[in-house]
Formats: sequence, C-alpha cells, structure tokens
Amino acid sequence: MNPTIYLDNNATTRVAPEVLEAMLPFLRERYGNPSSMHAFGGAIAKDLARARETAAAFINCEPDEILFTSCATEADNTAIRGAAEFIGRGARIVTTAVEHPAVLQPARRLKAMGHEEIELPVDGVGQIDLERLRAAIGDGPGTIVSTMWANNETGTIFPIEAIAQIVKERGAVMHTDAVQAGGKIPIDVRRVPVDMLTLAGHKFHAPKGVGMLYVRRGTKLKPFMLGGHQEGGRRAGTENVPYIVGFAKACELAQAGMAQEAAALAPLRDRLEAGILAACPNVRVNGDREHRLPNTLNVSFEYIEGEAIAYRLSDIGICISTGSACASGSLDPSHVIRAMGVPFTAVHGSVRFSLSRYTTAEEIDFVLERLPPVIHGLRELSPFGPGKGPTTFA
Ligand SMILES: *Cc1c(COP(=O)(O)O)cnc(C)c1O
Repeated sequence: MNPTIYLDNNATTRVAPEVLEAMLPFLRERYGNPSSMHAFGGAIAKDLARARETAAAFINCEPDEILFTSCATEADNTAIRGAAEFIGRGARIVTTAVEHPAVLQPARRLKAMGHEEIELPVDGVGQIDLERLRAAIGDGPGTIVSTMWANNETGTIFPIEAIAQIVKERGAVMHTDAVQAGGKIPIDVRRVPVDMLTLAGHKFHAPKGVGMLYVRRGTKLKPFMLGGHQEGGRRAGTENVPYIVGFAKACELAQAGMAQEAAALAPLRDRLEAGILAACPNVRVNGDREHRLPNTLNVSFEYIEGEAIAYRLSDIGICISTGSACASGSLDPSHVIRAMGVPFTAVHGSVRFSLSRYTTAEEIDFVLERLPPVIHGLRELSPFGPGKGPTTFA
C-alpha cells in the first residue's frame, strides 16, 4: 500500500483529534436539547453558549451575531436569499465570476426570479477591478454584494477590507464567503466592515455538517429556515450541539496556531511550487502569488488533462484535485480558471495542491519525486504540445 498523502485540504480536512475529543461527550451522555426546560437540557444550553462565545471571539464579533448552520452552503444561501427576500422586488446582487457555486447559484436563481444580477469579471490573477465594483453597486440600497474572501481553487485573496468599505459607503449589504480564509488568515469583522460572513467547520479541522453565518447587528435579513425559535428565530431547527462544540474547538485551535501554521505552510507550498517549476517545462502558476493563501498552489500543466494527472497521482496515494466539473460527467474546465483567461493550452491541465497543518516536508518531497515522471509520461502520450503539430486550436 502506498501512503496517503492528502493535499486536498481546500476540499475538506481531517478532523483534529482535539476536536473529536471535545465532541464525544455530546455524542454520548450529554445529549440534552438546549431548548428543554429541565436542567439536563439547560446544561447543554450553557455549553452551546460557550461555543458561540468561542466562535465569536474567532472573528471578533458578539455571540448573538452568529447563526450556526448545517454547512457553508446553507450560510451562503441564507445570506443572499434572506437579504434579497427582505429587499423584496428589484434587488440587485453583485458578485464575481469566480465565486463558489454556493454563492453563484443562489445569485442566478434570484436573477431567474426577476432580480438583477451582475457577475464581475476578474483579471489574469483572479482579482476584480474596484472601479467596476463601484459602478456595479449603483445607488446602494437594494443592492447585495457577495464576494469571497479567498478563492478555493487558486487561493487568491481579495482585498476584502477595501471591497467592504466601498460597499458600505454606498449603503449596500456586504456578504463574504470566508470559507477558505477561515483558519488560514486572520478574520476580524471589527476591522473589515462586512455585514455577513460564512465559515465551514470542515475546511479547518472540524467535521462536515456544521457551518456558521455571522450577521452584523442591524442587518436586514429574512430567515431561510422556518419552523422554530432557535438562533434567535433566525435559523430554525434543533441545534447540532456536538458539531457546534467541535466547530468552536476548531476555532480555538486555529486562533492559537494560525500564525505559526502559516509560517510553516507557506515555505512548504513554495518548495512544492519551485520544485514543480524546476522539474516540469510548460507549467504556469494560476492565481495571485502576491496575495495568496499560504496553503494553496494551483498549477496548469500545458497540453495534458488535470484529471489524468489526478488519477495517476491517486494510484500512488497522492490526493489532489482539479477544478473541472468531472463529477457531473463533463470535462468542462473550471469556471474560475476560465474566468482568469488562462490560455486554452493550459485550461484543462489545471490541478490544485492544498496543504494543512498535518502536511510534512517528507510528503512534499515524495510528491516532488513522483510527480515529474507522471507529467513527462502524460506529455509523451499527448497529441498536443511543442513540436507535435497544431499548438493553436483554431
Ligand atoms: C467548500 C466551500 C463551500 C461549501 O462548503 P459546504 O461545506 O459544502 O457547504 C463554500 N464556499 C467555499 C469558498 C468553499 O471552499
């Protein structure tokens, strides 16, 4: 058996052992409902309150500004659809071409329902133009802006403070999907004036099935989930206490270790990047190398398919991902890579390596040893490439 080298941490992460330990009592004996009248449930309500305080401290907000959700997708839907429902008719949703589908699809649904929707283009490194953003917002009230903090495919970090300032100057509502920022770079909503912010536990070592939406006091939002008084009446449904406790523990770990982790991860990622560039010709790095998550590397190997690379690496125990929608049976290239205007020869060959606190230097060295022969082998099989006939696909 090959070892499992897991470099797909932007898709999901391993649950931290400390997180699992914190959760276990709530999956065993502490199973009360925090809404119950009896003391057994009341004790759980206290644990839930403590978890909310920890999550609030993680992003520097008040505990009552946090709604726990089942996932980031629910939080994104709640923010965008809930704000649009409050506005009523003729809302305008401004977002970007590189958002996660959990933002893009609700925005497009609102357009289909008669609202206005604008998807801002990005440049070659995946950044938006702030003047274009300003123009897209228009008058302000009635507009919801949703831009991510950091991109899941390329790691590109948006200038979220500047974006939020522009949005708030105009009196529009500002939401950010901060799922990939969470646990990797500091988040402070007192400094960055967003109205709403999404996080997902499983992207920073809590389990799948728990997320969070920060809602600044005074933000006008209709609840998305109806049917109960939980979360201040803003998100119905019995709270998933074990997972919320796990989420809070993951926040605590991330807060304590973030600076140290970033300082360890960025050099490992850079070593991977430099090693690939040195060993493989016709490679390009996708994304903004000046403003990038410390754990993410997206590269295009020209003239070959990212899927083929991912399958071959999977065979030797290395887990990475491609941006294409191959799960749906098509080989459409990633909407993010396409939006950046990556040349046709490189669009299909894009793959993502994403590291975590558990990634070791030995693992990176193993990848650097095994990847180049895979690339050379696939290039030999490819009908395209330098000296192989048409390099333009007209
Ligand atoms: C993973 C991810 C999501 C969705 O998370 P779920 O847990 O699947 O709901 C949303 N946005 C970004 C940027 C992500 O990376």
